[in-house]
Amino acid sequence: MTVHFHEEDLPAGVLAPGPVAVDTETMGLITPRDRLCVVQISDGKGDEHLVRFAAGSDYAAPNLRAVLADPERLKLYHFGRFDIAAIKYYLGVVAAPVYCTKIASRLIRTYTDRHGLKELVRELLGQDISKQQQSSDWGNPVLSDAQKDYAASDVRFLHALRTELNKRLEREGRMELAQACFDFLPHRAELDLAGWPEIDIFSHM
Ligand code: MN
Repeated sequence: MTVHFHEEDLPAGVLAPGPVAVDTETMGLITPRDRLCVVQISDGKGDEHLVRFAAGSDYAAPNLRAVLADPERLKLYHFGRFDIAAIKYYLGVVAAPVYCTKIASRLIRTYTDRHGLKELVRELLGQDISKQQQSSDWGNPVLSDAQKDYAASDVRFLHALRTELNKRLEREGRMELAQACFDFLPHRAELDLAGWPEIDIFSHM
């Protein structure tokens, strides 16, 4: 269980084959304004990799981009809509195919409106993660240990969450609907970037 810190790109060959958990930290919530600062990635075997981008980065990152764009590698997110848009905007790749634990939770945990990562990890895995560093200065040239721990914890549990959520999606017959939502997610992110951020184009109004 180690958190590996890298500057500007992922080293080649550090990830086992198979699905990868992915998260991003940015300067804020408006993607074109608020630059991408950190991409976290984990193969689910116990280590997390943090790739930090400096102010003025060219976001070349060939190794990271290759992993994210690999059509053979499932990408696991929590609220992937935001991460996929940020990755598309700054790294120029569509990080699909996609699994989103927040969408899965919304489709299956209809007994609650609490779909945050902390709550999911608590209920499904019985573990506690801190969200204290969520709103912090991710553009700082020196990230604190608390920031690094937090960033890593955001990808640490996504493989296990997927396993648990899939059991429930299968049980309730909602796997196919979930898959259709995951498949649409890159397009939803594209709509965000193209000028329909909060407009529901399926709505009558
Ligand atoms: Mn995060």
